[in-house]
Amino acid sequence: MSLLARKIRLIMKLRKSGITDTSVLAAIERVPREAFIPPMFHDQAYEDMALPIERGQTISQPLVVAYMTQELRVNDRHKVLEIGTGSGYQAAILAKLCRRVYSIERHKPLLILAEKRFNELKIRNLTAKIADGMKGWPEQAPFDRIIVTAAAAADPPQPLLDQMAEGGIMIIPMGRDKSSQYIYRITRHGNEYQYEQLMPVRFVPLLPEVARNEPEPESRGGGSGDGEFFFRNGLALQPA
Ligand code: SAH
Repeated sequence: MSLLARKIRLIMKLRKSGITDTSVLAAIERVPREAFIPPMFHDQAYEDMALPIERGQTISQPLVVAYMTQELRVNDRHKVLEIGTGSGYQAAILAKLCRRVYSIERHKPLLILAEKRFNELKIRNLTAKIADGMKGWPEQAPFDRIIVTAAAAADPPQPLLDQMAEGGIMIIPMGRDKSSQYIYRITRHGNEYQYEQLMPVRFVPLLPEVARNEPEPESRGGGSGDGEFFFRNGLALQPA
């Protein structure tokens, strides 16, 4: 089956699974997911699966990306902060839907690869940096929307709550262990924050500080293809 046929099959599956926002479906259709995953997994780019990327991280399952994006209720006037650039796929989807995306990653090799992809795909309304996303991006705050693509243990980091605009929305997975994680939607009204529990998920953890002593992607022989992956129990980012 061609990549295009697989992509059409995936879009139909997303629609059946409750993704009704046509702008989100159009963004999924337009962003080539194969550009964000290591070559060895290209034939699985349009399966509805999380896949391993470098540094033991994962690119989220398409349904989870589509669902979180839909529940974020993003529009073309919004300034959006993403925590956990990872492969860059979620950020690229957001860039199609909002005015500007700011994305933060704690693993430098991942950020280097993601930025290369953004350049190749000519995505211009996206700025990414290496930092601890739990601190947010104070220089660019407030944000209309914040999306966290790694799981917080209990509460959202306070700086992220502080950096939400009035009426702003944050989508964040939370839960003490992988068997009890849910996506939450938090809406800010002044100093009140309204929490809604959405769907159960399994995400890699939100970790403090920038990761240290990391290899440059180039030193491993041309980047993302070779055997540096390790699989974890029940790949992250599958629905629970
Ligand atoms: N949005 C990504 C999913 C990546 S998985 C994609 O579409 O591919 C989650 C990512 O969050 C990992 O890359 C991990 O390194 C990153 N992460 C975890 N804690 C972080 C933190 N405190 N600051 C920034 N990134 C973090």
